[in-house]
Amino acid sequence: MRLILLGAPGAGKGTQAEMLMKYYKIPTISTGNIFREHISNKTDLGKQATKYMDAGQLVPDELVIELVKDRITRDDCKNGMIFDGFPRTIPQAEALDKMLNDLGISIDYVIDVDVPDENIIERMSGRRVCSKCGASYHTKHKKEKLEGNCDECASTLMQRVDDKEETVKNRLQVYHMQTKPLIEYYNKQNKVLYIDGTADVIKVHDSIMKLLGEN
Ligand SMILES: [Zn+2]
Repeated sequence: MRLILLGAPGAGKGTQAEMLMKYYKIPTISTGNIFREHISNKTDLGKQATKYMDAGQLVPDELVIELVKDRITRDDCKNGMIFDGFPRTIPQAEALDKMLNDLGISIDYVIDVDVPDENIIERMSGRRVCSKCGASYHTKHKKEKLEGNCDECASTLMQRVDDKEETVKNRLQVYHMQTKPLIEYYNKQNKVLYIDGTADVIKVHDSIMKLLGEN
């Protein structure tokens, strides 16, 4: 099974990827992990990528594709893989299709975990974490007993920069700009499965399995 998972930041895509990974016993492919591995092993591809990153530039798509190719041609991918967070743009999707085609394989399904922006903003902007022990809370769904203080260690709760409403809104905007065309691209190949991501984790997983014909 070769899958691509699409979904806005905060849509719960990562959790779904993990559950699919366990079910199919196939790895998740994330470009972040691939970069880190090549950079720490100082491979040729890693050194090339470092050059761009050190200069504050984006790693060019051709190099990203080389890195992805190196990863998916390993043994643990012979039964498939789940792409999480890649491709992000049309040129990357086109390059990925071409590379897979050269390998004689193709993507089976593209899963779009859809959660309305309002829900994501509510989910994320309500998060609070303890500045000392890292325990997590939510202003609506998991309130602390004494306002602003951790139940565990009584330290001050804070909001991560990534969870601030403005940050979340900006990331959603970028996501919509880049991803809508991607969904359209894979829709032309009849590969998109639309999933309502507002339900709880297990229900979302069940509806994915159903659409994949697994139950
Ligand atoms: Zn604490």
